[in-house]
Amino acid sequence: MKVWDNDGMRVLIVEDEPHMAELIGRGLEQEGMAVDIAATGEEAVEMAAAADYDSIVLDVLLPGIDGFETCRRLRAGQVWSPVLMLTALDSVGDRVLGLDTGADDYLVKPFAFAELLARLRAVSRRREPERPSVLEAGDLRLDPASRRVWRGETEVQLSSKEFAILETFMRRPGDALTRAHLVAHAWDSSYADSSNIIDVYVRRLRKKIDEPFGRRTIETVRGAGYRLRGDGGA
Ligand code: CA
Repeated sequence: MKVWDNDGMRVLIVEDEPHMAELIGRGLEQEGMAVDIAATGEEAVEMAAAADYDSIVLDVLLPGIDGFETCRRLRAGQVWSPVLMLTALDSVGDRVLGLDTGADDYLVKPFAFAELLARLRAVSRRREPERPSVLEAGDLRLDPASRRVWRGETEVQLSSKEFAILETFMRRPGDALTRAHLVAHAWDSSYADSSNIIDVYVRRLRKKIDEPFGRRTIETVRGAGYRLRGDGGA
C-alpha cells in the first residue's frame, strides 16, 4: 500500500501552452513534487518510456498527436502511470473517448488548481503502482523499486544521478542515446546546461560498474552519444 507522500512524486505534464504548463508545474512543485513538462504527445510517449512517472497530466488539445492518441500509445507501450486528462471539450463523447483510451480521470478546463490536485491524488491512490521489474543487461542488474544495482553478486553503490542515467540506459539496451536524451531523463527537462555533464557521469559509471569488473558496458558512439551493451559488456 503506497502511502500518499508528495515528496518524491514525479509528475509529467503534457501541455503545449507554456503558460498553462508552467502554472500547473509551479503549483505541483510547491506541493513537493518533481515535475517534467512535455510540449507534445510524441515527446511525452518518449519521456514516459524512459522514466517512471507517478502520474501524468495530459492535455487533450496538442499539436501533432492529440491527448487521446497519446494515451493510447502510452498504454500500448506498457506505461501504466495514472493519467489525468485535461479537456476543454466538455462533452460526454470526449470523456468516454478519454477513458476508453486508458485515462484514469479527466478534468474540464478551466479548473481550480485545488481540484486538479485532488483528482491527481485520487488517481494516484486508486492504482497500486506495479512493482517495476528488475532491469538486466547480462549480469548487470538494476532494481528501479529499491533503487539498487548489482554486478553479478556484488552490489554497486551509485549516487542518485548516476542511478538515473544508468536506469535510462538499461531501459534502452543496445540503443545509442544522445547526451541530450540522457540529460532530459536524469534531470528536470528545464535543466538546459547540457551535454558534457553526461560525459562526467558516464566516466563515473564506468569506474563503478565496469572497470572493477573488467567490463566495458557503456560504449561511446562517435558523433551520437553512448550505448549500453545488452549483454552487460561480458
Ligand atoms: Ca493544449
